[in-house]
Amino acid sequence: MSQITLKNVTKEFVTRGGHRVVAVDNFNLTIKEGECFSFLGPSGCGKTTTLRMIAGFEDLSEGEIWLGDKPVSIKSKNLYVPPEERGLGMVFQSFAVWPHLNVFENVAFPLRVMKLPKHEIRERVLSALSHTDLLSSQRVYPSDLSGGQQQRIALARSIVTNPRVMLLDEPLSNLDPKLRESMRFEIKALQKKFNFTIIFVTHDQSEAMALSDRMLVMDLGKIVQVGAPDELYQNPTNKFVYGFLGLSNFLKVEAVKGNVFPKGGAVMPIPFKLPKGVADGDGLLASRPNEIDISMDADGGYPAKIEKRLYMTFCIEYHIRIGKQSIRIHTSHANVFPEGSDCFIHFKNPRWYAKESQEIELERTERQVL
Ligand code: ADP
Ligand code: MG
Repeated sequence: MSQITLKNVTKEFVTRGGHRVVAVDNFNLTIKEGECFSFLGPSGCGKTTTLRMIAGFEDLSEGEIWLGDKPVSIKSKNLYVPPEERGLGMVFQSFAVWPHLNVFENVAFPLRVMKLPKHEIRERVLSALSHTDLLSSQRVYPSDLSGGQQQRIALARSIVTNPRVMLLDEPLSNLDPKLRESMRFEIKALQKKFNFTIIFVTHDQSEAMALSDRMLVMDLGKIVQVGAPDELYQNPTNKFVYGFLGLSNFLKVEAVKGNVFPKGGAVMPIPFKLPKGVADGDGLLASRPNEIDISMDADGGYPAKIEKRLYMTFCIEYHIRIGKQSIRIHTSHANVFPEGSDCFIHFKNPRWYAKESQEIELERTERQVL
């Protein structure tokens, strides 16, 4: 059983300046056995702290953590199982390899600590090296290897103990984009092979979406939304999740008697039905650049103006002016319209969100981990 359960888990830090930071705020969460689960959120939202509490490197301020049917941390009972007895593998952002040990010895290290027989160590290390494509480099020292290979050593070292759960804290963020993509597939392949549960921490939404069965979006120490990548992308619960999961426009709008007008003195309402329960007042109309049509014919579209056109590899990007505001639209290369012309736009799947307070923005900045 390698299901992971967090019950009312809270972690509070007191900073050197004496301020209190609730790094993780009352988490309730169950990660299923065999699942690839991502924690996604901006720097400072509490991802690493949550992972460290699961691993046992950090005590809880409140709450409980269970691995399968065994409690590993229960604050109220002062119960705390040390990391080495939790059966977890962990890979961090920085390449945590030992420079004075060759690849084989780096991977063998945890097994030597466990005092396994020599032949078993050899067997298991060679197997881990072959699964991470490092067999031919076993006698080489880490400094002679690339960043990607070094991160593979860390991966090999974490699978060599046959962990039930792998905790990966931004393991790919120090790699170049191409390598990151191939490592994603390698991690998934390893998971299939060894069938461990993965918790993957990242601030990169495309990485989380590509890897995860389910993901959790966190903000300011709190769980904002949990679900499958497509559920979250199709149905973001608030402006923050919408903006975090893809390219976005947030047009400032005002609802008057149920009609939605762009802010800044527009005379015509946008063809959009206010969701049930939303009262008149200010809000944001969210849209994705690739979910807006642009045309030269009125045909029910909203009048706007093409301010700028950028020819890009995967699309044409238009900067479109609506009153005093500007939004981005991505179209196929077949739709080439001149800069400066009047046009009509049609939002295919717009959403209404409440505005965020400025204090929230400020708080996010203050929490950032440098
Ligand atoms: P993330 O991994 O999402 O970037 P962290 O979990 O590292 O975020 O940090 C969450 C918040 O807790 C941040 O505001 C950070 O500054 C604070 N924090 C983390 N560790 C400590 C610590 N040991 N002492 C004080 N504050 C901490
Ligand atoms: Mg972190």
